[in-house]
Amino acid sequence: MRILVVDDSTTMRRIISNSLRAVGYEDIVEAGDGQQALETLEGVSMMLTDWNMPNMDGLTLVKTVRANPALAGMPIIMVTSEGARDEVMEALAAGVNDYIVKPFTKDVLAEKVKGMLK
Ligand SMILES: [Mg+2]
Repeated sequence: MRILVVDDSTTMRRIISNSLRAVGYEDIVEAGDGQQALETLEGVSMMLTDWNMPNMDGLTLVKTVRANPALAGMPIIMVTSEGARDEVMEALAAGVNDYIVKPFTKDVLAEKVKGMLK
């Protein structure tokens, strides 16, 4: 069960990865932007992505992934500080399955990931 964590902040990637490891997910890969994420998708079962990133942002990444029929069903959670209603609606319309607004607790993250992988 490989999980891809995408965020341009190394600190945020570490927080998310550590939270996942704490609840038993060991196979975690990371990417610093959407472009890198697309090159890291091999074998990935689920993706958590930031919205604001250089090169390719999270929304474009989600749209690109969803445009690939082989990846259309992969669970995607957006983890972002863009918590306004319009942004949430836009992300869901693009194919995000769930949404976590920063700052978040480890428990909220673990719960959403577990729920998604059930
Ligand atoms: Mg960012």
